[in-house]
Amino acid sequence: MTGGREDPLGALRLTRVVNAAGTMTALGASRLAPAAAAAVDAIRGRFAAIDQLQAQASAAIARATGAEAGCVTGCAAAGVTLGVAAAMTGADLARIERLPDAEGLPNEVVIQAGHRVHYGAPVDQMITLPGGRVVSAGSAARVEAYHLADAMGPRTAALLHVVSHHVVQEGGLQLPDAIAAAQAAGVPVIVDMAAEYDLRGAIALGADLVVHSAHKFMAGPTAGIVAGRRDLVRAVYLQNRGIGRAMKASKEAVAGAVAALQAWMRRDPAAAGMRETEILALWEARLAAQPGLTLTRRADWTGNPVTRLRLTVAPETAGLHAWELADRLAKGDPMVAVRDDLVERQEIYLDPTTLDAGEAETAAEAIVAVLANARAVGDGLALTLGQWRRARMAGALRWPSAETV
Ligand SMILES: *Cc1c(COP(=O)(O)O)cnc(C)c1O
Repeated sequence: MTGGREDPLGALRLTRVVNAAGTMTALGASRLAPAAAAAVDAIRGRFAAIDQLQAQASAAIARATGAEAGCVTGCAAAGVTLGVAAAMTGADLARIERLPDAEGLPNEVVIQAGHRVHYGAPVDQMITLPGGRVVSAGSAARVEAYHLADAMGPRTAALLHVVSHHVVQEGGLQLPDAIAAAQAAGVPVIVDMAAEYDLRGAIALGADLVVHSAHKFMAGPTAGIVAGRRDLVRAVYLQNRGIGRAMKASKEAVAGAVAALQAWMRRDPAAAGMRETEILALWEARLAAQPGLTLTRRADWTGNPVTRLRLTVAPETAGLHAWELADRLAKGDPMVAVRDDLVERQEIYLDPTTLDAGEAETAAEAIVAVLANARAVGDGLALTLGQWRRARMAGALRWPSAETV
């Protein structure tokens, strides 16, 4: 800090993170949008009647999504758990207070097999937390309407449909068909689309409850945004008198999420797209000549209006595997984070949404430096994929040892 002022982070000494990975919980999710920061700032020093605050959040969420009502939860995962709870209990306070004891309640949650994914924690667990039971429909890459129909019955509380790059994209039922199958069985549909830009589509198709994340592309504070049918949203909100208490949203989260949502609705998507395209072009210019790297622009997997840069590594030419490149970038100072979920294909993805031009430059320089070093020293091609994954897991289990960060 300059001018002798105290560092507001006190004793925390954090490695600078250059984030070319996207909005990841493990990296602090997002940088707060100015409008969200101002709202958090405005409410943090005062009290507020939370029912009133959440009722106004409901109106704002309804306007943004086209739903009847909405509320703010601790995060999107909490929104899924409380949505399942709501489908099980309705507005019955006695039932709400006895969860996860689901004795006598409909508690089966039907989910397509290819939707049972892990986004840092397993979706299944968000269903079982409030006392729900997972009923898997179909197989990983093949689900027909008859699988869903067969899985639903008198004990079904809801169908949970996940829209995400994590789910198996091939062979599953798309949202309109899943909603039709659930409606034919009289079953409510909860849609987990935490990271999807489209805030209105699922509601327009007839989804009963839709869950978004406030701290991903919207750049709000950590929170979930739930939108949907008025009675179900009310039942979600009432869970705060039960298991919701263990995952509550602060007044700062509610005010900040609403402000982020409203700022998001006002944003200029063309300007954002141009900024991101400039970053992609900068990366292409810096990395085009690197031996062993092939660069390709790739559209988002689920149709979000985002284009990322794919780096395909030819290990023998580059002198290291894609996972070694990601690993060395993450261990640098600054730490450069890239998307490493497809490294088994020798692919790394750079996401332009979470950094500015200066940081994009830093990320490119770091990649060039790691590659140059691997060529000069010849210490790449040393870790198999299995060894890298085991080392990562072992590191996680050594937390809070300093070497795990
Ligand atoms: C990120 C994500 C979540 C978790 O969201 P949080 O708000 O961090 O709890 C849940 N579902 C999907 C599909 C996600 O992408």
